[in-house]
Parts: sequence; structure tokens; C-alpha cells
Amino acid sequence: MQSKLSFPLSFLSLLSSATAAVIDPSSFASNAILLRDVVVIGGGSSGTYAAVNLKRAGHSVALIEKEARLGGHVDTFQDPATGGIFDYGVVALLNTSFVRDYFAFFQEPLMDIPASNPGALDAFANLRTDAKNVTLPPTVPWTDAAAVFGAILGYSAQISQYPFLVGGYNLPNPVPADLLLPFGDFLAKYNLTAFANMAFRFDQGMGNILATTTLYAFKYLPKTTVDAFVGLAPPPVMSATLNFQGLYDKALAYLGSGTNAFVNSHVLAIDRSGPRVLVAVLTPSGPRLISAKKLLVAIQPKASSLQGLGLDLSVQENNIFGQFNNSYYWDIVIKNSGIPPNVGVTNVDLNASLAIAPMPGLYGFAPAPLPGYTNAYYGSPSFRTDAQVKAETLAAVKKYVAANGLPATSPQIVGFNSHAPFWLTVSPSKIASGFYSQLNALQGQRNTWWTGATWVAHDSTAIWDWSEATLLPALKGSL
Ligand SMILES: Cc1cc2nc3c(=O)[nH]c(=O)nc-3n(C[C@H](O)[C@H](O)[C@H](O)COP(=O)(O)OP(=O)(O)OC[C@H]3O[C@@H](n4cnc5c(N)ncnc54)[C@H](O)[C@@H]3O)c2cc1C
Repeated sequence: MQSKLSFPLSFLSLLSSATAAVIDPSSFASNAILLRDVVVIGGGSSGTYAAVNLKRAGHSVALIEKEARLGGHVDTFQDPATGGIFDYGVVALLNTSFVRDYFAFFQEPLMDIPASNPGALDAFANLRTDAKNVTLPPTVPWTDAAAVFGAILGYSAQISQYPFLVGGYNLPNPVPADLLLPFGDFLAKYNLTAFANMAFRFDQGMGNILATTTLYAFKYLPKTTVDAFVGLAPPPVMSATLNFQGLYDKALAYLGSGTNAFVNSHVLAIDRSGPRVLVAVLTPSGPRLISAKKLLVAIQPKASSLQGLGLDLSVQENNIFGQFNNSYYWDIVIKNSGIPPNVGVTNVDLNASLAIAPMPGLYGFAPAPLPGYTNAYYGSPSFRTDAQVKAETLAAVKKYVAANGLPATSPQIVGFNSHAPFWLTVSPSKIASGFYSQLNALQGQRNTWWTGATWVAHDSTAIWDWSEATLLPALKGSL
């Protein structure tokens, strides 16, 4: 059964009916109907990049973003008193030609990330228990610098055996058994346990890194990233103004805020039953109907999120997207933490395997680039409320300060974002049974293309490279 959408009141019945939408263009004023080549849903890293690329290539686009800004996982903090600014979400990109071109196009400066921070001190504490600084015993394999460097080379050698991991999920059949191992077992199998802390620090937000399927750990931390961070390739880059949001603000202006790029906007229904895709959107200036040749979905494709768009999912799409699990990840800025500005604290657990702190929990505390501020990152394999994460973070800060004889302060959380659903995964048995072939086969079906971290990795450089090499040529070819 199909329901007829008479905008906007009947939308409510549409949501609860779980039937496919048929949008009636005659219920929109003619000046509220926009014809575009491509309509993009989601203005984060992947969606904004695609929209800008399409516009630069002469195609007409509409980009719809539910938040008040473009940028997705970019979070840029601004001190209300001084105007000082710093990134605490996405901070690092690789120095590739597409990254350089994108930033040069918007005249946003990049700079190399410094190899080391003089005067920085690394502290280790169990932030779940007593939070007292500990000296790591030599039995913890990643305390030995030579062993760590050897493990980095060993990890790179292992990952180099799987060149198909670059780009999307183009897995061979059968999928190599090592890729399906829990990452902790993989490290043990190849005597790479000294790599565990590097993986813990870089693969944040995946849940328990040692339990993560090796395929996903490899996707998150590819050889290119390892090489850049350990000095075997040109260093990674960051925003020279510590303001990645600046790029996205310029992208919003370039696309045309309110004409082609709609922030604070909510997709009400999507109808793919005809030759063009129809998207009904509530924007701050009223309802719009976008009629496009193609739809590009650039949000995390959990079935529940897609249903929330009023997307008319097929049985096949529902079945595929319904298989995803996801992890949870938060980034946090604390004012007046009381932790000295040169001290970074890594959460450890000397009773856990390889001393890697189990999640849910904090990854640690890191000095922010502005005096008086500390960054914190929190991950979980399962749902936590924002209130729980805030309470645990503040409790851990206070405990750390007290346990280590630092002067007490009144810490405040002044920046806080949940990035859920973060990493979308399926079980090793589903990976082995060809899940990613089925997922990739959806590309281009029903006038619909898909992009974002789930199709590549939580790595903006990799997403943009894949967009240029794979997604955008195919999408443009279909117009
Ligand atoms: C804290 C943190 C730090 C990171 N640091 C780095 C880093 O240093 N370097 C790096 O390369 N990568 C980093 N990443 C990973 C990287 O940012 C992500 O992989 C990338 O943002 C994924 O892009 P995406 O387009 O798939 O998702 P997102 O960037 O999340 O974009 C999705 C967009 O869709 C919007 N949206 C969702 N639902 C709807 C809806 N119903 N309607 C309209 N819009 C909707 C969202 O608001 C969001 O803007 C980090 C991620 C996090 C969370």
C-alpha cells in the first residue's frame, strides 16, 4: 500500500505507516520546487566534498544538512572571551593532492603537524579506578621504543599484503582469514603486541580495539597514515588556523546557503518511484521539493536513520542496512581541568590485556592548543547517555587532579559532541559471506548513490580519495 503525501500535514501519518511515500508535487508552490542534477543528504565530510566537486564540474546540486552548519565530525571550539579557536574533532589529514586542492580552492591554509611537542609529558593512569599516575612495567610490550618501532614496521608489512583495502571495501572471495580475527589475536599471532597502544590512540571510537575485527582496524589505520605519523612519509597536515570549520563555512557560501545548500533542514520524505528522485524538505524558509536526477546519501546508513528520512527502502536495502551495528564516540573540551598544560594522560589498565583500557571509558586527556583547556575523548561499544559520559568525564578529571596532588579546580565541560552512530560494522561471519559485495551492489540502484565513512573508513583523506577515484566518476557517468 502506498500513501499519498499532501505536504506537510500528512507527513506525520506517513512516518507511522512505514509505507513507501509518493510525493505529490502539486502540493508544493511552484517556486518551492527545485530541479537539480543531484540531491545530497548529509553535509559532513563526504557529502560536502561531493557537492563541491559536482558544482565545480558544472552540475547543479542541492545539499541538505540537519545541523546549523556543514562539517559533520569537525568540531571547532571558540573561546567566548578571547575568540581563540581550535579544532577538537577532525584535526589531521594526509598531505595528498586532493586535500591540498580542496583547501587551496577555498583559500584555507594547511600546515604540517609538528613531529613532537617540546616539553610535553606523557602520563598513564587508570581513569576508571584510582586515576593515580603509574609507571608502566616493562612487561607491557609497548613501553619499549625499539619494540614499538619494530611493531610499526611489522604492522605496515602485514597491511601491505592487502592492497585492496585502499579505497572502498572491495574484498576478495574468500576474505583472508587474518582480516576476520579479533585485532588482539592478530597482533599476538604476528608478534605485534607492541603496536597495541598506537592502535588504541589512533583507532578511537571503535569500541574495544583488541576485540575489533582486524579488517576494520586496518581500514581505520592504513599504512599511509602510519607512515605519515612515524616520519616515513611527509607529515600529516592540520588547519593552520586550527579551524577546519572555516573550510565548511566557505563551502556553504560557495554552494549557496538557502539556494543550493540547506542547513537546519529536515528531510520529510523521499520518493524514488518515478524517473526522478523527489525529496521533500522542511527548510528554515519553508518547505521545498527537490526533484533530482540522482540521490546521493551521505549520512551513516543505519536502517533506522534512513527510515527517519522517510526513504522508501526496498526489502533488499532494509535487509542490508539492518545488519549494521555501531560504536559510540564523544569529543569533549574541559575548562579549568587542573591538569598541567604540558601533560597528556593516557587511560590504561594494568590488569587488562596489553594494559589497554577497556571501553566504555575515556581514552585520556590531552592539552588543548589554548591555555586553560583540555581535550578528552570517550568511546563505547554500546549505548551511553550524554549525561553519563559527562558525569564520568568530570569525575575522572577531579579524581586525577586529587590523586596526583594537583591543586583542585572547578572543571567545566564547555565543548561536547556525541558522534554516534560512529563506526558501522557487521560480524566476521557476515563479512566472510559477502556482505560488502551486497552493500557495494546498491551503488547506482534506484537512482541512488551512497558515500561516507561506512563505504570507505572514518578517514576524511581516504573518503575524498575514494570519491575522486570511484564514486564521483560513476555518479557523473550516470547523469
Ligand atoms: C572526534 C572525531 C575526530 C576525528 N578526527 C579525524 C581526523 O583527525 N582525521 C580524519 O581524517 N578523520 C577524522 N575523523 C573521522 C572523520 O571525520 C569521519 O570519517 C568523516 O567525518 C566521515 O564523513 P561522513 O560524511 O561519512 O560523516 P559525517 O562527517 O558525520 O557527515 C554526516 C552528516 O550528515 C548529517 N546528517 C545526519 N543525519 C541527517 C539527516 N537525517 N538529514 C540531514 N543531514 C543529516 C550530519 O549532521 C553530518 O553533518 C574523526 C571523527 C571524529 C568523530
